[in-house]
Amino acid sequence: MRLRNIPGARDVIADTSFCIKEPEKLKGKWALKVFKNNNPIHIEIGMGKGQFIMELAKRNPEINYIGIEKYSSVLLRGIQKMEAMEEPLKNLVFIRFDAEYITDIFDEEEIDKIYLNFSDPWPKDRHAKRRLPSKEYIARYRQILIKGHTVEFKTDNIDLFNFALEQIPEAGAELVVKTFDLHSDPVLNEGNIMTEYEERFSSQGNKICKCIIRV
Ligand code: SAM
Repeated sequence: MRLRNIPGARDVIADTSFCIKEPEKLKGKWALKVFKNNNPIHIEIGMGKGQFIMELAKRNPEINYIGIEKYSSVLLRGIQKMEAMEEPLKNLVFIRFDAEYITDIFDEEEIDKIYLNFSDPWPKDRHAKRRLPSKEYIARYRQILIKGHTVEFKTDNIDLFNFALEQIPEAGAELVVKTFDLHSDPVLNEGNIMTEYEERFSSQGNKICKCIIRV
């Protein structure tokens, strides 16, 4: 998702307390310094406008959430939604950051769970390393996740999903479970929170794929 450049988006991000600045300085200290507790931290990489992570945070106040988005113009929408809330969520913050450098901002075993939703497909072979479920990214997730913990990946893009399934063993990770039709799977769909893209593509009749990866 790349919205047109929105003038002033960077200023809003610089000014809001919902968005964490200089995240590198918080490596190893997120729970205590940002959330001021010891609760587990779940992150969504490529959160877009934030619908999914905001609903998760509402439902699970005992978990700390960090939404990561590369582009200011997209992140701005999430910030505006938080600002419009009567009681902004205390267990959710945002970062404008490129996840390629995610190991610069989180320490070993600092993260309890990672969500990837409708990640950009980067269809050209030469861009495969940029795909968020690539083996290069899985290696980064392994560095920051607690041992044995998981990445949850959803997409309607079958090529990207099959790519992820191939990458899992190549990365030395383990496929815990997969479905090619999430919304018809009573077990995996239980408590499912739809993202913006999931609502859009499933309303067009696309099936949603999901897998859980133990890295
Ligand atoms: N997750 C949302 C959803 O399902 O509705 C948005 C999906 S959109 C197709 C993918 C998002 O991931 C875009 O907003 C894009 O800017 C972001 N993104 C892509 N690569 C990223 C990266 N390396 N680091 C952080 N965000 C990234």
